[in-house]
Amino acid sequence: MQVHVNGNCIGCGMCASVCPNEFFMTDGGTAAAFSPEVGDDLAGQVQAAADGCPVSAIEAR
Ligand code: SF4
Repeated sequence: MQVHVNGNCIGCGMCASVCPNEFFMTDGGTAAAFSPEVGDDLAGQVQAAADGCPVSAIEAR
């Protein structure tokens, strides 16, 4: 699964809580992904974060 956090992020922190192995909060207050691609082990968590993001900032496919 490919993962990207786009410019819509408002820094709510949800994704970093739901999937801390892939998302973290930057010094600028927005989220970023540790890796542009994750394996099946993290796909469920990443999808949950993408589905729950209030501004659809997580592109996962
Ligand atoms: S859930 Fe969405 S808005 Fe919230 S920090 Fe993550 S990418 Fe940003």
